[in-house]
Amino acid sequence: MVRPKSFALLAILVSVLFFFSTYWPIPTARLSPSRFESLFLVDRHGTLLREVLSSAEGRSRWVELEQISPWVLASLIHTEDRNFYQHRGLDPFALLRAAYQNLANKKIISGGSTLTQQLARQIYALPPQPLGKAVEMWLALRLEHSLAKTEILTQYLNRAPFGNQCFGIGAASRLYFGKPAAHLTLAESAYLAGLPQAPSAYDPFRHPARARARQQRVLRALWQSGRIDSLQFTAALSESLRIARRPKNFLAPHACDLARELLTKEQFSSANTLRLTLDAGLQKNIEKVLSSNLQLLQRANVTNGAVLVLDNRTGEILALVGSQDYFDELHDGQVNGALAARQPGSALKPFTYGLALERDHTAASILPDIPTNAPIFAGGGDFTPTNYDGRYHGPVRLRTALACSYNIPAVRLLEPMGAELLLQRLRRAGLVSLQKNAQHYGLGLTLGNGEVSLLELTRGYLALANDGRLKNLRLFAETDSPAVFPVEEQQIFAPEIAFVLGDILRDDAARAPAFGEGSVLDLPFACAVKTGTTKDFRDNWCMGFTSDFTVGVWIGNFDGSAMKKISGVAGAGPIFREVMLLLHRDFPPAPLTRPQNLVKVAICTASGALPNPFCPNQMQEIFLRDNVPSATCEWHRLTAIPEKFENDFSPASPMNFTTTIALFYPALYQPWAKAEGIAQPLLLSNAPALRNNQPRASSIQHPASSLTITFPDEGDIFKIDPILRLEFQTLLLECVAAEGITEVTWLIDGEPLQSVAPPFRVRWQLRKGEHVVQARGRLEAKTVESVPRKFRVL
Ligand SMILES: [Zn+2]
Repeated sequence: MVRPKSFALLAILVSVLFFFSTYWPIPTARLSPSRFESLFLVDRHGTLLREVLSSAEGRSRWVELEQISPWVLASLIHTEDRNFYQHRGLDPFALLRAAYQNLANKKIISGGSTLTQQLARQIYALPPQPLGKAVEMWLALRLEHSLAKTEILTQYLNRAPFGNQCFGIGAASRLYFGKPAAHLTLAESAYLAGLPQAPSAYDPFRHPARARARQQRVLRALWQSGRIDSLQFTAALSESLRIARRPKNFLAPHACDLARELLTKEQFSSANTLRLTLDAGLQKNIEKVLSSNLQLLQRANVTNGAVLVLDNRTGEILALVGSQDYFDELHDGQVNGALAARQPGSALKPFTYGLALERDHTAASILPDIPTNAPIFAGGGDFTPTNYDGRYHGPVRLRTALACSYNIPAVRLLEPMGAELLLQRLRRAGLVSLQKNAQHYGLGLTLGNGEVSLLELTRGYLALANDGRLKNLRLFAETDSPAVFPVEEQQIFAPEIAFVLGDILRDDAARAPAFGEGSVLDLPFACAVKTGTTKDFRDNWCMGFTSDFTVGVWIGNFDGSAMKKISGVAGAGPIFREVMLLLHRDFPPAPLTRPQNLVKVAICTASGALPNPFCPNQMQEIFLRDNVPSATCEWHRLTAIPEKFENDFSPASPMNFTTTIALFYPALYQPWAKAEGIAQPLLLSNAPALRNNQPRASSIQHPASSLTITFPDEGDIFKIDPILRLEFQTLLLECVAAEGITEVTWLIDGEPLQSVAPPFRVRWQLRKGEHVVQARGRLEAKTVESVPRKFRVL
């Protein structure tokens, strides 16, 4: 047991120690203004994107007391700490008053802290708990012993938070009033002195009315204490304040936010300027592209979007737009849409097809796009997949199924492989947001029912562009700096598989049945592209790559509300297109190199097998050398039919037989053919519509002329886009020709442009001025000419 006497001794000892401890000086390093140097985030060319404070994450500008308007000091002392010059760090009266107020109102209204205590809190970043409060008091006493009153004021005014990442009166004065602190008027001083109490509540940009009310309270306190007279008081109240506009050097806001999150403490304190991989000019142009497109989509209830541009070679992020408007609070503009997890829809399908290509499937494999007998189990219950157009397309080649984004083949393809396999591969491809198990997603995973971020998905596409190898993304230009959300760089697909996937996604003809020929997805250079739309039109994606860049576009609403019937080709597609055209404004994509192990082989377009002599349409398809089809087409066969088969066939009448080519679908597709009204066998001489690549001319009868231009029309006017590269701006000249014409020569202003075979189309590069276009051909040894058409290019 401790005796009273020794207890008293101990108490005295502690008190003495405590007393002397308050003379322990605050280390000068703590008070050094050098810790407040700003960090400059610049783009790859050195353009300033944002200024951030190294340790406290804000802007700062150290100023001495004599460089500060005396009104600031007066305002500060009269509102924050009236007895500042009298107390020794603590103000017992203020503490008692605060305690009384807090008790009377049953909540914390006032802390009763002196300016010295607040400074201690700023220097040491103390927690608000009672222990923190005690330490704060002890530090305040030490500060008063270490520093003169004027030094305490200088320290306080240079460290106090003024909102908008702005610390210190010097920076605040520049930010809000665009002038040095020495030139602040009484009204401006009172305005600024009121901010540090609650910098976000009184934010001059966001809550100007609250900040103004706070200023009036400060002025009233000055007037009531007699520091200013009634005249000065009323003059200051009526003075109109010119708050400067939001700072301009706030470019690429989401990318800079991300950079700040990724920076280590060492980088913050050591670097003065940090170079990011962004290209400020490109970023700005893409922001414009996104916002102008979103404006067009307003009526479709689309409020937001995000775009990511990656350099395929380095994995560098060249542009990152996280929302339409960072400062649009109504639509959560500060949310980074590139990092938000959303359902990708069909944009995930290439990964399923990659797995299929690894397992004996080829781009020519025939997949059944026919009604499924049983519903397929997927996350959330059974479902029956349907296609976007609500139709069944029968036997489709794998190339067509992926390019046209048919759902049923994608689900049927995954069924024998299982969702688990796809899930593992997607995670390996860096889609780490897919955290639930395979049972949760089910086969719907291939239709994009899991949630991934635009950043993850675009990185996954970059792997397809990069010979199947996953690459880490970089936001900092220094090569030894950390990657953005690093993943293990590994091979996702073999280079050959990645090339075949890219080749399919670059094939405009393959996607034409679903998207039409020459859609917005058809770029004037080799560009792989895939769209995605989720159910109820909540999310809309367009992903793709050239040999140089990978681009990801998402549009939708941050609150998850649905858009009005916007498909990938109408919503995100045009944005993707414009971004790609911008990226290749100055140079076309580098030529593609086909892996050695891939070979081109002719196939029958209907059966995907090697063509027999009767296959009406053939095409070149690429195959892995050891997976070339060996079977010959059995769908196209010669068949004998009775003459006048259609008119007067009866078993009793005598018949002459003739042979013709017919298409015989395998048994699997017979019910589909029947439902679609396709005769079996289908006599091809009676079915010109079924022939692919059929020249439009042959199906159109044109009695008036044997050669007619269908585009452009007489008097059409076209405009040259000033931004796009001129060689991308072409007219597709089209005509219809009578049967028998095998070649058409196009003439522009009387000069031959090009001679072409069916379908007789040719692209002509726009040139300013009035022009005449004419088509010329030969029919039965005679030259035939179309009626010339005049058009104008502005
Ligand atoms: Zn065939």
